[in-house]
Amino acid sequence: MTAAISNILIVDDDPTIRLVIRVGLSRQGYGVIEADNGKRGVEAFVRHRPDLILLDVTMPEMNGFDVVRAIRAHNEGTWVPILMLTSAEDVQSIDEAFDAGATDFMTKPINPTLLSRRVRYVLGGAEREAVLRQARAEQESACRLARLGFWQLHRQSGAMRWSEDAPAVLGWREPLPDRVDHFIALVDAGQQSEVKNQLELSMNHHEGLDLEVRLGDGARHRILRMQGKPSADQDTMVGAFQDVTGLRALENQVLYLVEHDELTNLPKERLFLRLLQEQLDMGSGEDPWMVMVLDIDRLHRINDAFGHAAGDNVLRVFAQRLRQHAAPGTLLCRLEADTFGVAMAMEDSHEAYLSHLDKAHFINGKAVFVECSAGAGIYPRDGSNAEDLLLLARQAQRKARLGSGTKLVFHQQGQVENKAMGILLETDLRLAQDKDEFFMVFQPQQELSSGRIVGVEALIRWQHSQRGVISPVEFIPLLEETGRIRHVGDWIIEQACRQAAAWRRQGVNLRMGINLSARQFEQEDLADRILACTERHGIPARCLELEITENIAMHSPEDTIVTLKRLREMGFNIAIDDFGTGYSSFGYLLKFPLNTLKIDKSFIENITEYRNSRAIIRSLTALSQGLGLRTIAEGVENQRQRDYLDALGINEIQGYLISKPVRADELQHCLTMKSVADADIP
Ligand code: C2E
Ligand code: MG
Ligand code: MG
Repeated sequence: MTAAISNILIVDDDPTIRLVIRVGLSRQGYGVIEADNGKRGVEAFVRHRPDLILLDVTMPEMNGFDVVRAIRAHNEGTWVPILMLTSAEDVQSIDEAFDAGATDFMTKPINPTLLSRRVRYVLGGAEREAVLRQARAEQESACRLARLGFWQLHRQSGAMRWSEDAPAVLGWREPLPDRVDHFIALVDAGQQSEVKNQLELSMNHHEGLDLEVRLGDGARHRILRMQGKPSADQDTMVGAFQDVTGLRALENQVLYLVEHDELTNLPKERLFLRLLQEQLDMGSGEDPWMVMVLDIDRLHRINDAFGHAAGDNVLRVFAQRLRQHAAPGTLLCRLEADTFGVAMAMEDSHEAYLSHLDKAHFINGKAVFVECSAGAGIYPRDGSNAEDLLLLARQAQRKARLGSGTKLVFHQQGQVENKAMGILLETDLRLAQDKDEFFMVFQPQQELSSGRIVGVEALIRWQHSQRGVISPVEFIPLLEETGRIRHVGDWIIEQACRQAAAWRRQGVNLRMGINLSARQFEQEDLADRILACTERHGIPARCLELEITENIAMHSPEDTIVTLKRLREMGFNIAIDDFGTGYSSFGYLLKFPLNTLKIDKSFIENITEYRNSRAIIRSLTALSQGLGLRTIAEGVENQRQRDYLDALGINEIQGYLISKPVRADELQHCLTMKSVADADIP
């Protein structure tokens, strides 16, 4: 293709040779320019910018070597391939040609067939080189964009070197320190000894280094993630650094937004639990605390009668009262729409507190009373950790709702709700697999830029003989508790791979998302088994995207990282599911080897209503993009949400707008309609 439009300059003082070459090359479709001496050759190069130069050695005015040097000295002449035509076996002139900067040589007399083959070869090589150069340039600009740079530390002398644009990456005017002690002096005072120790440790033990360093102060303050390892000869330590200052600021911002409720400005459950646990851990273990769940009864009536805005106002005022009358140190949160959590020291009177809530709300000038039901659990009597206590308080609150008026029901020891139901299901669940009652449904994921369906998520369903289809939300926790999730998990992986293979056979290449549960991660051979399954079905590993939730990830993070790294090495994609709802620390989580971040549907739901949700999505997307991850938004139900997400640069969406999760055969229509058969899986 390139040959057809390539221009070739022939510089030779012998008209016969020029004629032979011109005829041969023109026939091949090349454009040919001629020059009859060296000087004109250089001029022709400047004027025509040929793609290749064929150059004679011995010529009047300016010999071939001087021509090469002149062209190479020209700022457009660095890369143009120059083929020198030397006399046979004149080794010295061949050497001189290369020294002058020629690309290749060919001996006279010219054989037209050989020449055109050689020309094609040289042009191809030049083109490949140009592509490489372009890639390298792009890489360098990507480094700057990603705020990446490189460093080197010489062990003996303590000399440090940085990549040339390191100060630019950091936005510093000053050069970076050229000695390790100067570098340490720049590190935040509280971190200096740690950084020094880590550097020494990895030097002395030939260990990899992965450090987050707080550097400089004031406007020069930066957080650098420095990774490195000692060179093979142990003389130097070489590594890369990334300026993560902006990323960390973004994480903090996201964390705040994710952890606070927009309407009431109260913490959400996950922050509440964390603060409560910290509080309990700090105490002697004996000071009793009361954890309460307060639920406003029949808020929906107010919504129905006076509109949502009125309902929202009631919630705001209610939260305000909770805050106003709380004793210092009391922890508050909004758990769900109309449910609040309170944790207070037992010595503070809860009766007095609750009585403040029993006041009229004014809607359009009318006094309206709302009633609450409250349940409580007591620390340490009923439970020893925050999560258990909140669960018990919730169960007690549900009992309270059955009564009338605002009253508080305490958790009764030894009584745990829903156990009976759990046991019933559990028995059925044990038989479900044998009875073939599980089946898989698939929900498509659409790429926004192209509108193509590029992936599906596999979701399990249970067809119960009496109760109909049961949601995985109900039975997955039971499977996890009993450990049966391992068997069922294997079955799920098998089904998903089989389906992916079946679609591939029809020419539909889709990425298949599979949810993994915490218990599956405890199996040491998990990665190998998944790989074996893909091999059995003849699908490449990159076809699968394994979804893990934050909570799994934090379950035993070190082991999880090991397993995830193995899976990544095998070629699987890793997605973090329901992002933003767990209890994990972002900073930590984002160290996991991830490809994809799935934003939880709870944030998408309120996108068009709440500014806070939009702010969360915006920050989450920026975070995800900053980390180079693919972002998928879950639970997209309408066009407005889609448009908003599209504008933000979210990569893919999943939700009822595209399709509910359905059986494979029902998806067929949607796939052939919207996907491109030979599309590469992104
Ligand atoms: P998930 O992995 O976050 O799955 C997405 C859930 O969102 C699915 O619920 C899906 O039906 C629902 N969804 C999708 N689009 C929309 C939408 O537009 N609006 C609304 N309101 N919901 C939407 P599903 O199938 O009930 O699954 C619930 C959870 O159960 C999953 O959440 C996942 O954590 C777990 N699960 C499901 N299948 C499996 C499985 O095969 N293995 C494991 N370990 N867990 C599973
Ligand atoms: Mg999922
Ligand atoms: Mg999800």
